[in-house]
Amino acid sequence: MIADLHTHSYYSDGYLSPKDLIQAASKSDCTHLALTDHDSVLGLKEANEFAKLSGIKFINGVEVSTKLNNLSLHVVGLGINPKSDSLLDGLDTNNRHRVERAKKISEGLQIAGIEEPLIEAKKFSKTKNITRTHFAQMLVKKGICPNVQSVFKKFMTGNKPGAVKGEWIEASEAIHQIHEAGGLAVLAHPFRYKLTLSKLKKIIISLKNLGLDGLEIVNSFSTTEETYLIKNIADENHLLYSFGSDFHGWPNQNIKIGGIPKFDYGDNLILDRL
Ligand code: AMP
Ligand code: MN
Ligand code: MN
Ligand code: MN
Repeated sequence: MIADLHTHSYYSDGYLSPKDLIQAASKSDCTHLALTDHDSVLGLKEANEFAKLSGIKFINGVEVSTKLNNLSLHVVGLGINPKSDSLLDGLDTNNRHRVERAKKISEGLQIAGIEEPLIEAKKFSKTKNITRTHFAQMLVKKGICPNVQSVFKKFMTGNKPGAVKGEWIEASEAIHQIHEAGGLAVLAHPFRYKLTLSKLKKIIISLKNLGLDGLEIVNSFSTTEETYLIKNIADENHLLYSFGSDFHGWPNQNIKIGGIPKFDYGDNLILDRL
């Protein structure tokens, strides 16, 4: 079994169409795949169709942008019904915010001397869904930064000109909406929020109290030490294990679909509950 429960298509900030994503998964011998676009379920129909043709077991997913107190957290929904009104309502709220946020990011970048940032970033998105990745890819292509990571550092985090706080839906709402859609809610990439271990544990307990079902134990960025740390936190809080590459597929990224470190998931594997 090679499963990947966290991937993106061009319906959010990935590069590939759902069809091409399935093809890439197939080439990497994936047996199970979830498409988890940021705040979007628009790619799921196409992905389902092509997964059927290629024999991959496909899981409907979404990665919801949320806030908890002052933090932006990503909650992945797996096994969701993409037609759920409750879920669609939350995604709609986030996407309306995303449009306003993109304008503010653009204004900030313009002050930093970049011309027509929003118009230029839109050229990198196949949909109306404009993410920071699209701004980042645009700035790399223009030669303003050498890579995407450096754009985030120089322009889009902390107090930099293009940093705009995400006013996303509450984590509690996202978890509730994922459940209403028949799915399971997972905290994405727990170590990417740059929290101390004790703060991370507190956040996870808060999320568990809000109904969270699982944690991403392994992704493309996690170290062996992080995996064991987070597995212990999952065990302490009776949370399921999920895992995924967070594949985005841009030509300048070298993350492989299905390319997550092998790990013994035992009985707590979320895949068995989907
Ligand atoms: P947004 O949903 O618009 O806030 O964009 C978030 C996306 O930007 C994430 O899902 C990542 O794909 C990407 N991203 C965030 N931080 C970084 C970073 N430091 N380096 C590269 N990509 C990043
Ligand atoms: Mn992304
Ligand atoms: Mn994420
Ligand atoms: Mn992701």
